[in-house]
Amino acid sequence: MDALLQVRNLETWYGPIAAMQGVNIEVRAGRIVTVLGANGAGKTTLLNTLAGVIDPFKGQVLFAGQPVHGLDADEVCRRGLVLVPEGRQVFPFLSVRDNLAMGAYTRRDADGVRDDLARVQQWFPRLKERQTQHAGLLSGGEQQMLAIGRALMAKPRLLMLDEPSLGLSPLLTKEIFNIISLIRKETATAILVVEQNAAIALAHADDGYIMELGRIVAADSCAALAQKADVQASYLGGSQAQGLSGTAQRWKQRKTWR
Ligand code: ATP
Repeated sequence: MDALLQVRNLETWYGPIAAMQGVNIEVRAGRIVTVLGANGAGKTTLLNTLAGVIDPFKGQVLFAGQPVHGLDADEVCRRGLVLVPEGRQVFPFLSVRDNLAMGAYTRRDADGVRDDLARVQQWFPRLKERQTQHAGLLSGGEQQMLAIGRALMAKPRLLMLDEPSLGLSPLLTKEIFNIISLIRKETATAILVVEQNAAIALAHADDGYIMELGRIVAADSCAALAQKADVQASYLGGSQAQGLSGTAQRWKQRKTWR
């Protein structure tokens, strides 16, 4: 059976800079897939290209068998490929409830919106408790929950998450990943998550890719990746500076817990 998402030879440039080249990945229905990589590896570029935020220079993105590369971001979202962007980007002056309602605006019919809202509030009870508060007043972890909840209101077939652990404590990161696993279990929604935190992503995803300097340098099941000595050395506690391809990574420390 064809994969839900097939990415073929994708290439994206920023002016004269090639941020991503020759990228091939697949996400099968109902799977959690992770793309791991250091800061600057090209992970955000990949997700933004898939979501229609940036146009690729070359390559194909097939979603449910249909090409979606070159479509506008709202049309890509309407087709069920929904992005939770890096840094959450909630609407700070809207209430939590209105932020969630905004997530449903690309849906073709309003049927089931109430049920979906109830379900999101079940996965994230804190969003229910704070539904009348301005989103800008939430903690970093709660804003991440809201951003995921808002994306779920668009009824994704594939939910894409850009570094959900960014800026969160280890405990909150664990909580977010546990909820991501629960959402997949209860809805069979496919999930593509890019992360710098390899340990947590490998523990929750089924299949994984490693990206270095804009290219995929390894692909396997997460169980197999976690056993590889070079993955352990570069991404699971060793020195990320080397990477699998031996190329120095652009790396900056930027973990601020909130
Ligand atoms: P991060 O963890 O910081 O989000 P990343 O793996 O998501 O890193 P990208 O943000 O996709 O990496 O960046 C890939 C490369 O493209 C980097 O070299 C980055 O400096 C460059 N880049 C990203 N955005 C732009 C831009 N708007 N203009 C020029 N270069 C960019």
